[in-house]
Formats: sequence, structure tokens, C-alpha cells
Amino acid sequence: MDSPLLFAVGLSLFFGTLSAAIAANKNRSKYGWFFAGVLLGPFGLLVAVLRRIKPVVVVVDVQADFTSAHNGTLATSGSDESYLKTVSSATRAFKDAGLTVFATQDWHPANHMSFADNHPDKKPFDTIEISDGWIQTLWPVHCVQDTDGAALAIEPGIISDVIRKGQDPQFDSYSGFRDDGGVKTLLREKLTEAGAKSLIIYGIATDYCVKATVLDALQLGYKVCLVTDLCRGVSEDTSLSAITEMAEKGAFIMQSLDLKKALRF
Ligand SMILES: [Zn+2]
Repeated sequence: MDSPLLFAVGLSLFFGTLSAAIAANKNRSKYGWFFAGVLLGPFGLLVAVLRRIKPVVVVVDVQADFTSAHNGTLATSGSDESYLKTVSSATRAFKDAGLTVFATQDWHPANHMSFADNHPDKKPFDTIEISDGWIQTLWPVHCVQDTDGAALAIEPGIISDVIRKGQDPQFDSYSGFRDDGGVKTLLREKLTEAGAKSLIIYGIATDYCVKATVLDALQLGYKVCLVTDLCRGVSEDTSLSAITEMAEKGAFIMQSLDLKKALRF
């Protein structure tokens, strides 16, 4: 039982006992105290229940191939050892504060459509039109299933569950919730099981997978706090416009991590 719940139980017992004592000894005011007990006890419980709903953390795609620390094939700028240490210690702090931590993991088959190598005459960062207006950026080969590049690059043991995405060779999957073909990952189900109402999200890349995951989360009705210092992007321009878009759609943007504030945003 955590402290807010103990507080509520204590409050209920206090008012219950007090109203009983007053009712027994002092006829004149017994009803007033009785009603105070009846009203304030459940109010304390309600406050406790609301306070017990903690945010859930979603760490997006912090994987070797996206980091310079591991000489990744699609390393984002500034994703060095010190970034990874900061992400690990922030994630550890959330776990120590009692939050559930999920991680998403890009997990592609070698024949994935997003790899430039799988398209004749195309090179990384070229685009192809898949259908009317649907433009796909082509990437260097990255996060191939069961390779070192696909491994999570944060301290092991602090993640409750890993949600894999991008396994279908025909569709890319920037969002942690679903691929571009509309097939859902297990993230929503895991969040529902965890009782999540609000999410703290950070990771790689700000302008692609973090953005898509945050926008889907907002669309699904979650409150979202994005911690930008714990994110790295493919390019500065698109990262800045992604942050603006996430804020406009309702995400709470926290630049550097303030643990207390993040727990109550
Ligand atoms: Zn990918």
C-alpha cells in the first residue's frame, strides 16, 4: 500500500472514529460530524486513487544502430555515450519512482522496404512514392532482427517490456502503436494493462518515431509529456518542427528532465 492510500485510509478512520465519538457524547452536533466523516473520507480516497495513477514511460527506439556511441548505420547527431548514460539514468530514476517503463524496438527483416539497398538505383535518404501522396524515405540498412545494431542501447534491467515494430517487410512503422499498413503493435494493450492514462515519452528519432508515437498517443487520448533533452533527431530542422507540431497537438514539452514535475504533469 503506498502513502497516498494510507493517507486516505487514515483520513477515513479518523473521521469515522471522530464522528462516532461525537455522536456518542454530544447529541447537538453529531450529525454535522457524521456528515463530515461521510463526505471527507471518500474524498480522501478519491484523491488517493487519482494520485496512484502514475504515468507510464515509453522509451522509443534507443537502439545501437541509431547511435554514434555504437557506430550505428543510422546514427543520429549527438547520440554519444553521454546521451546514452543520461537516458539510462533518467529511465532508472523513473523506475525507482515506481513507474512502468516500456521500450519500443525497430525490428526489421533484411528484405524490409525502407532499406535503400532493397531498391535498385536508390540510395539512403532518397524517397519513393508508394501510392498517391504517400512518400517513403529510404534508409540505410538498420535494426535488422537479431543483429547487434538492433539491440537496445540502454541499461538492461530497467525495462518492463519491449514492444517490437517494423517486422512486416512491406510496411514501415515509425509509430510504436502501429505500422503504416495499420497493423497494431502490442503497445496499446500493454498500456491498458498497466492502467496508463498519461505517458512520458523520449528516445530516437525526434522527427520520426518519437513524433509518430507521440501523435498517435495523443490521438488515442493519452496525456503526453515529451522530454526533449532525452531525444535525438535525424535533422535539426525537422526535429524542431516535430516538437512544435507535438506541442500544438497537445503534448507537454519538457526540455530538461524535472522528475517531480514529470510525475505530476
Ligand atoms: Zn526502421
